[in-house]
Parts: sequence; C-alpha cells; structure tokens
Amino acid sequence: MHSEESPESHPLTSSAGQNLDPHLRRYAARAAGMTASEVRALFAVASRPEVVSLAGGMPNLAALPLDSIASEVASLIAREGMVALQYGSAHGVPALREQICDVMALEGISGHPDDIVVTVGSQMALDLVTRIFCDPGDIVLAEGPSYVGALGTFAAYQANVVHVEMDDDGLIPEALRQALSVAESRGQRVKFLYTIPNFHNPAGITLAVSRRAEILEICRRAGVLVVEDNPYGLLGFDGQTYPALRSMDPDNVVYLGSFSKTFASGLRVGWALAPHAVREKLVLAAEATTLCPPTLNQLIVSRYLETHDWQGQIKSFQQTYRERRDALLSGLEQHMPAGCTWTKPDGGFFVWMTTPEGIDTKAMLPRAVTARVAYVSGTGFYGDGFGSRQMRLSFCYPTPERIKEGIRRLAVVLEQELEL
Ligand code: PMP
Repeated sequence: MHSEESPESHPLTSSAGQNLDPHLRRYAARAAGMTASEVRALFAVASRPEVVSLAGGMPNLAALPLDSIASEVASLIAREGMVALQYGSAHGVPALREQICDVMALEGISGHPDDIVVTVGSQMALDLVTRIFCDPGDIVLAEGPSYVGALGTFAAYQANVVHVEMDDDGLIPEALRQALSVAESRGQRVKFLYTIPNFHNPAGITLAVSRRAEILEICRRAGVLVVEDNPYGLLGFDGQTYPALRSMDPDNVVYLGSFSKTFASGLRVGWALAPHAVREKLVLAAEATTLCPPTLNQLIVSRYLETHDWQGQIKSFQQTYRERRDALLSGLEQHMPAGCTWTKPDGGFFVWMTTPEGIDTKAMLPRAVTARVAYVSGTGFYGDGFGSRQMRLSFCYPTPERIKEGIRRLAVVLEQELEL
C-alpha cells in the first residue's frame, strides 16, 4: 500500500462549495482558468461497464495489428536502441517529418519537412501555438461549439474565446465577418481563428469546400492567422478527403495534425506545420516544454508508416466508425422524441444533438447515468455557457449493438424529462 493518502481522499471543495485548496493564494492568475472539463469529470462514472458511454472520444484500436507492431518495436530497440532511447531534437525525427509530408499530401498539402514540428499529440501543438501568440485578454475566434481541449488551452493562457456560428455547412462566413467587426469596434485584438474543418469535434460537421477560400480570404484581409486542427480528416466514411485550408493559403495557416486517430493515440505523436518564421518560434517553445518529443514513439510511428499498409489500416478504421455512425443514426431515427434534431456526420467520431425546449442536458445527465447511458452536455463545448439544450454523442468506441441500446435508454430519459 502507498503510505500517502490518495488525492481523492482530500476533496478540494467543502460541502458548502468553499475552496479548501491550501495553495489557493499562491497560484498564478492563469491557473484560475484551469478547471476540470465536464468530459473529464464524467470519465469515472461513464467508464463503469453497465453504462453505455456515448461520452468519451477514445479511438477504437481493436483493428490494429498488435503482434506485428510488437515485433517491429522489439526489432527497433534491438537494432537502433542507442538512438531510440536517447534524446533527439525539439524539431522531431527527420525521417518522420518527411513521412508526415506524405500523409498531409493526401489532403493536398505540399509542406516542407523543415516546417514541421513534431509534438506530443496535436494537443501540445495547440498549447505551443497559443503560447506564442496569445497574451491575456487576446481574442481567439472558434466555431461554436468547439473542441473542449482547445478551450482549456485558450483559458490557460487567459485568451478569450469568441464563438462563431456554424450551420450544416460549417463555419458561416458572414458570422465570421461580424465577429471580426465587433472585435474591431471594441478595440480587441483577434489573434487567430481556431477551426476544425473536417468531421468537427463535437459538431460532426464538415466545412463546405465552397466556403473554404472565402473564410481564408476574410482572415487574410483582417490580418488574422488561421489555426487548422485536423485530426479526423482522413476518417471520411467513404474514403473522401477535403482540401486542407493549409493547402489553399500556406502563408497564413498553421496546420495541426495527429496520429492519434489514424494509428495510436497512446503514442502521443502529433505535429504542427507552420509558416517558416512561426515554425522557428514553435521549436523554441517546444524545447522549453519537453526538450524533445519522445524519440522511441516517433520511431515507432516512422517504422509503422514504412512497413505497414497504413492507408489500408485507415480504411479499416473508416469502416469501424462508419458502422457505429450508422447504428447511432438509425437508433436516433427510431427512438428520439419529436423535436430532437441532430447532425449527420460523414466522418469522424461525433454527432451533435439539439433537444427540445425545456431540456437542460447538464441537469439531466445524472438521471441518464442512472439509466446507464452517458453523453457530454453541450455547455462544455462553449466558453460562454451556451449549449444547455445540446449534447455530444460519440459513436467511436462501443459496439453498434451497445450504441443502439444506449440510444434507446437515452430516449426513455428524454421522454421522461419532457413529461415533467
Ligand atoms: N483536436 C481535436 C479536435 C481533437 O478532437 C483532439 C483529440 N480528441 C485533439 C485535437 C488532440 O489530439 P491528440 O493530442 O491526441 O493528437
């Protein structure tokens, strides 16, 4: 047994809601923005086996060829252990950076390996980008809703998020123009537009190709950088891809990519592709954070890309997720009460559902968990309290049968709420 008590045995708030953290007065101001996301708080309950979790966004790794990956890793350490187990450069392993260019070429990007910075997941790239661009009080524009992990990063750097409305074709150009002009009239500094153009988390929406050039043009004219976060772009269910924003305006777009959804999230290998000068700053910021990304993990990814049919593997991921998306959508069609609407993703992990007037998805969640189904309430995906009638439903992890059962349970809970 560990001699110290676990942190869980010291609740940091009293039953009256008073903060009991003895270090409270010592924290830097930026730590005030660091609060547990609703997704995180949910994790413990939602992972109980009797609960069908439509909450988490964990990639489904069941189709990975574990035996052959294991033997590649063993031979990597046996043959190149002195390199694989050593420090490397903050920039990332050169061979992997070249291979990343091949991956990005699938979405029309012609990047140079020197302009890639390998990071510990694209989450770290998000952190670095925000660190080098945002001072406290700066504005970041982001779709409404937006990725909860990005909102956490922006809050940690005390940047203020202004959400820009989406419709079924993604970010609305006119709404972007308006957000920019409001910020200008208030004298606020907009540092960048953070956007997830493909198979959006949490909205499940893809930015129409016809809007892409317009959005880039609006940002360029306003002198606002675009941060394109694209972890799901290769997970189109029919194998379809869309032209990356980065491919259309390389000088004004920082592109964030990841192997978390196309290979293995636990290796934590992602990257940023940035205009030359920005890349220099990113490397310096990365050096200050981690010295270098894990060499072994980078070499595992590199070896995997070299020796495995990684594109075939992505196809099998697409099929896994397509089956689950179909199960979720047909369950929704079959069971949801009138007045519910939802998005129909053609890739990625998520459906975004809007419930009828009178439902509060956050207040309803404990009752849903009691009914053995979990989701994430929409409020977690906005920095401004919006989203109380919305929820994110993930279809990536459970089996199609469990997904259908989860939706059936959720519909019962919603019916009961509507009768109250
Ligand atoms: N961006 C988005 C939109 C995501 O959904 C995620 C993971 N859920 C990330 C970034 C971070 O991914 P990773 O750090 O695993 O590359």
